[in-house]
Amino acid sequence: MPPSPADLADLAGASSTTPLTTEAGTAVDTEATTPRPASRRDRPTTLYDLTPAQLEKRVLALGEKTWRATQILDWVYDKKVTNYEEMANVPGALRAKLTDTLPFATMVLEREAITDNGDTAKMLYRTFDGQFVETVLMLYRDRATVCVSCQVGCAVGCAFCATGIGGLMRNLTAGEMVQQTVDAARRASELGRPLTNLVMMGMGEPLQNYVDTMRFIGIIHDPRAMNFGARRITISTSGIVPRIDALALEPYQVNLAVSLHAPDDELRSRLVPINRRYPIAELMAACDRYIAATGRRISFEYALMNGINNSDEIARALGRLLHGRLCHVNIIPFNPVEMLDFERPDPAGIERFAEILRSMGIPTTVRYSRGVEIAAACGQLRAQHERGLDGGQRTEQRTGMRSPTIPLAHVS
Ligand code: SF4
Repeated sequence: MPPSPADLADLAGASSTTPLTTEAGTAVDTEATTPRPASRRDRPTTLYDLTPAQLEKRVLALGEKTWRATQILDWVYDKKVTNYEEMANVPGALRAKLTDTLPFATMVLEREAITDNGDTAKMLYRTFDGQFVETVLMLYRDRATVCVSCQVGCAVGCAFCATGIGGLMRNLTAGEMVQQTVDAARRASELGRPLTNLVMMGMGEPLQNYVDTMRFIGIIHDPRAMNFGARRITISTSGIVPRIDALALEPYQVNLAVSLHAPDDELRSRLVPINRRYPIAELMAACDRYIAATGRRISFEYALMNGINNSDEIARALGRLLHGRLCHVNIIPFNPVEMLDFERPDPAGIERFAEILRSMGIPTTVRYSRGVEIAAACGQLRAQHERGLDGGQRTEQRTGMRSPTIPLAHVS
């Protein structure tokens, strides 16, 4: 039995009101402390967590016909309502039972920042256990893309990433990822645009939250739920080799992006510590197996940092590493991160690096992150909020900054 909304309130309250003391018995100022994340067992199942088949079972168990599930799914994924009360053709008694037994959603929008003349919106959510999670919606001329987070924090600890600084707090549930997506689709729809693309490049490493990530994709891809095309979904990974092999066997034809950032183990291990566990030769072998099994091209993401990984020599080494592979390189000029010292190269240096790759036959594009001035690097909005730098307010910032092509929060 999942917790009722009242249970949820208790759960949420418990994390902030339960007196805490240090081992020495000194009271801890909980106002200034991020609440401890809930254990997996205590994370509530919400409406967004259920597959259509599971919702049918739930409705049946409540004494209703299974076709009521179809009505509910229509309200959730087509009309995108935010509570049971709005489901006008669902009987009041069923709505009441669902309200008591199955929370609709658990995350609350804490802050929203808007930039790029309204084309980029970054949402900061507070989870039921007091954690903070970011989602970004980006509008382009020909598409609208949501960047979804899959974890609170991240265990990979890339040297250039705000999210990794505090380590991993917890995995997000499939329902928490579905909520980010449906909210973004509603928001895009309010702006007269359909949500066309989804990138898992927000906070966290999707392949280290594999089960919930696959469950999430299964729900949004299900024709009876959101019916979101798998080919419009991109999963980004820092290079978790066994999970790349597992992903190749999944039925979903999603796109794979690998955050590479360096062509040799010495440099990559400094930038992406998981490289010590899965060095480049193993990662490339897994990529080759993935390409052979799926026939799909891999995107290699490359955060270009001045004086770190942007020399001509490194560009040529990268070209040699990727030569002959069915791939594409996305160069992402580094998105400045507060608290970290890396710098973005100048525009001429960025183009030179890209040209070297192209001259070696590697399809290459340069993509700029969006929303730099609203802390769009992954984890920055959360970090600012937790340090009180945003005043804890919903903010709207409108500036005339350029509108580059795509964010890549996974590389900050
Ligand atoms: S870049 Fe991605 S994998 Fe690396 S620490 Fe940040 S969120 Fe984790």
